Amino acid sequence: MRILNKLLFQNIRYSGISAFTRNTLQKRKVTILMFHQPNPVFFEKAILELGKRYNFISFDDFLNFQGGKTEDLPTKSMIITLDDGWKSNFDLLPVIKKLRTPVAIFLMSGLIDTMFLPWFSFVDNRRKKESLKKVSDSGRMAELKHKGFEETREFSERVILNKDEIREMQASGLVTFGSHTLFHPILPKCNDAKASREINLSKENIEAITGIECNLFSFPNGEYSERDIRLCQKAGYKAAVTLDVGFNKSGCDLYRLKRISVPDQGSISELLVKSSGLWAFVKTFLGRQKRTRRHSGL
Ligand SMILES: [Zn+2]
Repeated sequence: MRILNKLLFQNIRYSGISAFTRNTLQKRKVTILMFHQPNPVFFEKAILELGKRYNFISFDDFLNFQGGKTEDLPTKSMIITLDDGWKSNFDLLPVIKKLRTPVAIFLMSGLIDTMFLPWFSFVDNRRKKESLKKVSDSGRMAELKHKGFEETREFSERVILNKDEIREMQASGLVTFGSHTLFHPILPKCNDAKASREINLSKENIEAITGIECNLFSFPNGEYSERDIRLCQKAGYKAAVTLDVGFNKSGCDLYRLKRISVPDQGSISELLVKSSGLWAFVKTFLGRQKRTRRHSGL
């Protein structure tokens, strides 16, 4: 399976389609990638290969361009982001420094300096995890509690970055920290009070650690409602990233930034094909086809 997968992405890569996408759709836009916890060896390889094809910019660069012309952006601009703030992200710091790559890390601030576990790491069954994302927030919490999980239950190992690591990464001048809520709920499933708390308090927590304004927000699981967008604006964030498929240009909606999910390991061919957005476009298209078929009763 792994070999078939490798061959598939190699074929797509060498067919030239992803290079074509880079030189057309992505050329005058900003591509934002989402990693989670890549190991340093793969991350270094990934940054080197992406760096040959794209121009890395920081989130601040992108925000400063707003109001300017898209032509002012470097061609094929790319922003690297990492979601959740895993402890292992600290091991990427030597690579980030060596290659001078700007990155943004989105933290679940309720888990910093604790032995807590994110709820989705506690549930090991994939189908169960997906079904918990679809129920009301109180329903999800009740079911997790029934299984012995609480957001503030201590486990034996720390899995999330601590304050010292965050500060050391920040001191490099290359890592920006944004919020990914306190405990990673699915925001549209939360009531107003909880959504507001998750969005506002996490901003305050991160600012208390970094000593600077926390301008960026990442929606857990890429899910948001109009209310959540309004809450982010009201809280004072300057931009929010989603998992909506596509690329971004100067003057776009800063609270619905499009982002592409890429693998934390595997082959460089798969990474390059996925970074070109091709894979996500095809998956979205097939998903729509499937939904249309289901709705039409076929
Ligand atoms: Zn996440």
